[in-house]
Amino acid sequence: MRVTHLAPMFIEQRPEVLEEGVLYISVSFRTTVHLCCCGCGNEVWLPIRPTRWRFTYDGEAVSLSPSVGNWSFACKSHYWIRNGRIDWAAAWSNEQIEAGRRRTRARDAELAAAGKGKARWWQRFRHPRRQR
Ligand SMILES: [Zn+2]
Repeated sequence: MRVTHLAPMFIEQRPEVLEEGVLYISVSFRTTVHLCCCGCGNEVWLPIRPTRWRFTYDGEAVSLSPSVGNWSFACKSHYWIRNGRIDWAAAWSNEQIEAGRRRTRARDAELAAAGKGKARWWQRFRHPRRQR
């Protein structure tokens, strides 16, 4: 079942079970996670970073930018999260996906050269058990 809205929930620890229709946000770990809005059950991790996603929160609903493209999932779903609402977008071709990945890599390299945005330390939040 497709989800039509995502309600924000600010968290400090990875939830044991993710629920559909909830956008979990950890500000201190600079990441968000939600279950794919198509209903496939895949976890969608969107880091909050200058080269990845930014979010706005008006006290009730969250918007994320840019759009969410789940190209690595079988569903390949593509949607925007705007004021907590899911706006479905057209699927991308393989060429568009590759071009998008190239842009991301280029921005990452730029930031790394400037000494910013490095480290995947936020992954500790995603996989807490791997710390030990
Ligand atoms: Zn999906």
